[in-house]
Amino acid sequence: MKKATHQQTKQHNRDLVLRTIFLQESISRADIARLTNLTRTTVSDVVAGLIAEGLVCEVGHGASIGGKSPILLSVIADARYVVGLNLAQDKFIGALVNLKGEIKETIELDVHESDGEKGLQFAYQIMDQLFKKKLKPIIGIGIGTPGLVNTREGVVLNAVNLDWQDLPLGALLEKKYKVPVSVLNDSQAAAIGEFVYGGDHRPDENLIVVNARYGIGAGILINGRLFQGDGGGAGEIGHVVVQENGETCRCGKRGCLETVASVRAVLRQMNADSLEAVSEAFLAGEARAVDIVTKAAHFLGVSLANLIGTLNIQKIVLTGDMTRFGHVWLSEVEASMRAAALTRMSGATKLELGKLDYRACILGAAAFLLLDDYSLLFNEENL
Ligand SMILES: [Zn+2]
Repeated sequence: MKKATHQQTKQHNRDLVLRTIFLQESISRADIARLTNLTRTTVSDVVAGLIAEGLVCEVGHGASIGGKSPILLSVIADARYVVGLNLAQDKFIGALVNLKGEIKETIELDVHESDGEKGLQFAYQIMDQLFKKKLKPIIGIGIGTPGLVNTREGVVLNAVNLDWQDLPLGALLEKKYKVPVSVLNDSQAAAIGEFVYGGDHRPDENLIVVNARYGIGAGILINGRLFQGDGGGAGEIGHVVVQENGETCRCGKRGCLETVASVRAVLRQMNADSLEAVSEAFLAGEARAVDIVTKAAHFLGVSLANLIGTLNIQKIVLTGDMTRFGHVWLSEVEASMRAAALTRMSGATKLELGKLDYRACILGAAAFLLLDDYSLLFNEENL
């Protein structure tokens, strides 16, 4: 094994400390040392550097556990900004996000039924408007898009709804806006959003976040890191067939999970335009709505059981528009999940609703950019 150079070690330690501070509301130097296995001296040195860079500050004292109470550190929220972009089905939403995951500005565009080139122009329009805002410095763009993505290359391999095939979205935006761009599948982005900003998750946790909206996808975190699989499509559960000879799916197959458990499926069966009307009917106990939504929940639950059987990850978060059907829907999903997986394994699995709704994808796309490469924070060109 090649020995790491001094510079590499330094950068590695810095990134480790930054990651630890990022994932906590506030934290003491001693706790950083404990979580990273770095020495107290190393942590103090790194922290001094981060304070000098204007990225981290002391925010008061924590509870004392004998002896004097420790000084707490936190990232400085508005030290840098990242653009998060959610290329959702019917609506593109772009936002300027600070280092604490607070959304400072939002631009939304209705993009219903727009094709490939038009979709791209909408994305540019949102970027143009966000870059005109006075918030600086903007150090990068993180994108969550439906479909199959090669994150390393920033290429959207196949997004059916936008009719994008092998689109080098990352390179196009980098050229135009002169900042680094990362492109992620939207469900994977939502998973990172819930993990980083959605409440109480340990930095090294395993987590599955299932995003059930027009399409359905999951994001899988293992030891606190996104797992994308060999082809980038890990968690693409929406296009696995659950009903033989079922409805034709937009991917060309029949009976995919999406054809029974997604917003699209529910609207189609209800012959409705908006989810609002369906959820009203559902909550009022209207038989047809109850039947269709219950079936949707059932098939989603069975798919979750498959994930449990494959990964045995004990925490599953559900996000996306389908969660609008609330706890009645959730308990149907849960009942089917428990019925379809090994009792010991499903019994130990916690299923809950996400906390960030549509913001999960935006915040996750933005956070991924940083978690992936902290050197962006120090990139002189953009500061
Ligand atoms: Zn399909």
